[in-house]
Parts: sequence; C-alpha cells; structure tokens
Amino acid sequence: MLRDKVALVTGASRGIGRQIALTFAGYGASVIVNYNGSKERAQEVVEMITAMGGKAVAVQADVASAEDVGRLFEEAHTAFGRIDILVNNAGITRDNLILKMSEEEFDTVLDTNLKGAFLCMKHAAKIMLRQKGGRIINISSISGIAGNAGQANYCAAKAGLIGLTKSLAKELGSRGITVNAVAPGLIETDMTQKLPEQVKEGMLAQIPLKRAGSVKDIAEAAAFLASDRAAYITGQTLQVNGGMA
Ligand code: NAD
Repeated sequence: MLRDKVALVTGASRGIGRQIALTFAGYGASVIVNYNGSKERAQEVVEMITAMGGKAVAVQADVASAEDVGRLFEEAHTAFGRIDILVNNAGITRDNLILKMSEEEFDTVLDTNLKGAFLCMKHAAKIMLRQKGGRIINISSISGIAGNAGQANYCAAKAGLIGLTKSLAKELGSRGITVNAVAPGLIETDMTQKLPEQVKEGMLAQIPLKRAGSVKDIAEAAAFLASDRAAYITGQTLQVNGGMA
C-alpha cells in the first residue's frame, strides 16, 4: 500500500507514533523515526523495521524548535532523497483547570502540539511541492473537537491542528498534496496511562464499542489516509474513537 514511499513520523519512539512507523514500514514505506529524548527506544523501532526487511533511520529533534525541525528535514531528505508522507504525531499534555493553568503550561503544549506541526508542515510542503505530491496527516484528538475540562491548552492546540489541516488542504490541493487529520478517542498508551481510573471508566462508559482503542486502530486509519486509496480525501478529520462522539 505504501511501497516506495518515504514517511516522516514525529514522536515515533513510543505509543501511537511508534505503531504508525511500524505499520507504514509493514506496508512498504521507508521511515524517518523522529524522537526528542528517547534515543534507545527510537533505535529499537529502527531495528524492528530493519528486521522486517524495511528501511528506517532515527533522527533526534524537538519539534517545538524551528532550528531542530530544519535539521530534521535536512537529515531526513539526505537519508532517503524524498519525503512523501508527514505524520505530525508528537504531542504532550500539561493538564490543569484554567484558574490553575500557568502560562508556561499553556505555551509548552501549544509549542509542541500546534507550532511543532506548523514547522514540520512548512518544510514538508516545500519538498512535496517540488515533488508535485504528498500526504500530510495530523494527529489531533477528540478533545480538539469536543473540548475537555482540565485540558484547555491541549484542546486549543488539537482544535488548532484541525484548522491548520483545513487551511493547508486548500493551499496545497492543486499541487496533489492532501492534508488530513486523525482524531483519536481514548487510546491505550503512556499518555492515557496517567489518567485516574475514575476518569478512564467515565470515558469507557461513553464508548459504544465498549473498549479503549489500540495504537493499531489509529495506525491503520493513518495508513489509509497516506495511501493512494485516499487520493480524493483532503481537509478532513477522521474520527477514530469507537463511536464516542
Ligand atoms: P505518548 O506520550 O506515548 O507519545 C508521544 C510521543 O511524542 C513520544 O514519543 C514523545 O517523546 C513525543 N514527543 C513529545 N514532545 C516532543 C517534541 N517536542 N519533539 C518530538 N517528539 C516529542 O502519547 P500517544 O498517546 O502515543 O500520543 C501520540 C499523539 O496522539 C499525540 O499527539 C496525542 O496528543 C494524540 N492522541 C492520543 C490519544 C490517546 O488516547 N493516547 C488520544 C487522542 C490523541
């Protein structure tokens, strides 16, 4: 499905990003595994892809840093000579109620989750415009659609990602580049491990499919949007949430 494609996945050392990297490689893509701090885990993903007979490199970069992102795209382009797919997956939470939320908590989340995607899209767009085609997939969240108490910073960033997605779809569509978002619901990863049991139970009660999602559920949706099968889909947000909203 992704044979001969080159994909760059941000925050790919664990969780959803890791599974997207492995799934894309399984479908034939070469993968740039971006990580911020977890060098060993990123290398492990590279080794797993290599063991599958695929190609991958790990590149360190903090997506919130314009300088790092510039270097990330240079190294990625040098490694494989092209970039066909960008997945903006890197994300963090700094939850707090609005009266307690510090400016730092707000800025840090916006810088990584929203500005990071903007910086990566800017570099990817330049390369994809030259190549006359490409796929950009932004990992948003149900929180960006429905809002969530205690997550104003995260929800604002994830809603902002949907706006970026729609705008870039309009800017880049005429050049064969599609831009879509995936909005996961409750997915079992390190990020949701931190949630109190009571909160998780409350969320599970609202899921018609009666289970939390797996990283594979998200990776398969992203793979579809990255493939030729989704050639006529752009500017959309695919909700993968077990029917939660
Ligand atoms: P996770 O915490 O397991 O993984 C996040 C990854 O992003 C990590 O590898 C981390 O190192 C990386 N990262 C964080 N800051 C970075 C930075 N500045 N530069 C580069 N990499 C950075 O979380 P996850 O659950 O796998 O989440 C992946 C994405 O999916 C996030 O954008 C998250 O907001 C989104 N999401 C997750 C859920 C869920 O239920 N788990 C639901 C909706 C959306």
